[in-house]
Amino acid sequence: MATTTSLETSSPEETEAAGEELGRRLQKGDLVLLRGELGAGKTTFVRGVARGIGSAAPVASPTFQLVRIYPGRLQLAHVDLYRLEDGDELRDLGLDELVDAGAVVVEWGDRIDKRAGVDAALISIEHLGGDRRLIRTDRDLRR
Ligand code: ADP
Ligand code: MG
Repeated sequence: MATTTSLETSSPEETEAAGEELGRRLQKGDLVLLRGELGAGKTTFVRGVARGIGSAAPVASPTFQLVRIYPGRLQLAHVDLYRLEDGDELRDLGLDELVDAGAVVVEWGDRIDKRAGVDAALISIEHLGGDRRLIRTDRDLRR
């Protein structure tokens, strides 16, 4: 989809609600890449996504694991590439298998090499100062 949509939020709850809205629309095979600096609100957004797929699991940054799995009406894999060391680690992650098994949302998703030809939705979260954040969907889910 060519259109870029943007939404300004002024609390973590509003960012979670935006994530929840996306989570309700996710289908098996969907890949969502999130970009935004540390503290932008990526994990907060994913907390909403998990709720949107109907998962009651607590969502935290998968700091020491590259991926966490949340069961819901479909499986959600929550990937965080912040500590990604090299391309080998990305290959070992088995992104294709995770996408086959459910929906996947990736923090620091901009670290995935676009030349790999991944077909993904792109969402950026930008710090606007204080509690204000700009959430931009640069590319939506293909439907
Ligand atoms: P990231 O995963 O991008 O590093 P986190 O979601 O872990 O960011 O942290 C975002 C921090 O900013 C949290 O402490 C959250 O409470 C705070 N915050 C304040 N306002 C907002 C907002 N509008 N949206 C998201 N997070 C916000
Ligand atoms: Mg995070």
